[in-house]
Amino acid sequence: MHRPGAVEVEDGRLAWVGPASPGEPRRAGVLMPGLVNCHCHSPMTLFRGAAEGLPLQRFLREVLWPREARMTRDDVYWGMTLACAELLRFGVTTTCEMYVHEEAMLEAVEEAGTRCVLTPGVVDVPGWMRWQERLEEVVTFCDRVSASAPDRVEVGIAAHSAYALPLEALDALGAAARERDLLVHIHLAETEDECAELEAEHGTSVTALLAERGFFAGRALVAHAVWVDEADLRILREHDVAVAHCPQSNAKLGAGVAPLADMLRHGLRVGLGTDGPASNNDLDLWEEMRLAALLARAHARDAGLLSAQESLALATRAGAEALGLANVGALEQGRAADLILLRADDPAFVPQVEDDDLLSHLVWSASSRLVGDVWVAGRQVVRDGECLTVDEERARREVQERATRLAQR
Ligand SMILES: [Zn+2]
Repeated sequence: MHRPGAVEVEDGRLAWVGPASPGEPRRAGVLMPGLVNCHCHSPMTLFRGAAEGLPLQRFLREVLWPREARMTRDDVYWGMTLACAELLRFGVTTTCEMYVHEEAMLEAVEEAGTRCVLTPGVVDVPGWMRWQERLEEVVTFCDRVSASAPDRVEVGIAAHSAYALPLEALDALGAAARERDLLVHIHLAETEDECAELEAEHGTSVTALLAERGFFAGRALVAHAVWVDEADLRILREHDVAVAHCPQSNAKLGAGVAPLADMLRHGLRVGLGTDGPASNNDLDLWEEMRLAALLARAHARDAGLLSAQESLALATRAGAEALGLANVGALEQGRAADLILLRADDPAFVPQVEDDDLLSHLVWSASSRLVGDVWVAGRQVVRDGECLTVDEERARREVQERATRLAQR
C-alpha cells in the first residue's frame, strides 16, 4: 500500500505503480483494483424480485426457466446493459457470466466497457433448449470469438449443472472445453436435495462423479460447492478446480453455507460470486466480501478467520486467479488498468490509527456507495458515481417493459 501512491497508465495497462513524488498532482481517495465477480447471470436483472421465497428447484422450474424460454436476444441485451451499469457503479469491472443469447451479452459488454469471461450456458429443458443443438451453437460462438480475440472478453463453456443435464451432455461439454483449453463452468452441490438425489442415483457424491468422468480434467470453475465434504474438497484440490463462493445467493435461497474456511485450508482457488440478480438481488460484490467473512467466522465461532486482507483478496486477486486471469485483480505493473477510486471523505474511513486500519475499514465499514470513479483498461467508465457508457435511464425503462412482458404467460 502506498500513501500517497501514484499509477501511470499506458495503453490500458499499469505502466508503473508506486509512491507518489512530492509536488505531483493529487486526487483524494482510495485507489484499488476493480472487483472480480466470479459467478453471475447478470441479465437476470430482468427477473429481479420475480421468484421470492422459493427454494432453488421451484425458483428455476416455476419462475426462471419459463421466463428465460420466452426471452429474446434484445431482452438479454437490455438486461445485460442495465447490469453493466450496476456492476460498474459498484466497482465490479470483471464478471464471469453464465447465460444464454451470448451474442447479445457480448454486444452489451463491449458497449459498456466491462471485462468479461463469457461462458454461454447449456441446459436441457424440454420445450426450451435441447443440449445437443445448444452445444453446437455454443462451440460455434466460442470458436468465432476466440479467433477474433476481443480486448476484454474471454470465452468459456457453461454446463448448467449435473441435475439439469444428462451425463453424456456433461461429458460432451467438458470435452469441448478441454479441446479448446477453455474454462468449463458449472453449478455444483448447491443444495442438499440435489446432492442426495444424484448420490442415490449414481452411488457417489456429485463432486466425485464429475471427477471420475473427467469433467475436471481441464480448466474448471464450480459455483457454490455448498454441500461438499473433506473428500470432495480433496478431489477439487487434486484437479485444481476453482470455486465461485456465492454466500448471499446461497443464504437467500436457503441452500446453506459453503465451507469457505475449509476450501481455503485445502488450498483451493476461491473467488466470490453474486450469482444472478434474481437470487441476491443485486450485483454488489462488496456485500459478498463482507458476508463471506462474517459467515465463515460465525460458522466456526472463530474471530481470527478471514482477515481483512484475505477477504479483500477474495474479491480481487483471488477472484482473478479463480478465473485464470493473470492481468486483473491487483495494482501491479503490467496488469490491466482496471481501477476504482473510492471517496475517502466518509465516516467509514475514520479513524485511521494503525497502518492496517484502512484495510479493515475497506472490508468492515466501507461499501459500494463510496465508489466514485471507475476505469476499465484505462478508459473511464464511471465518474462521480455515474456510469458514462450506459444510457441508464433508457436501460431501466427497457428492462421494466421487457420484464413485464416476460412475466405474462
Ligand atoms: Zn448461478
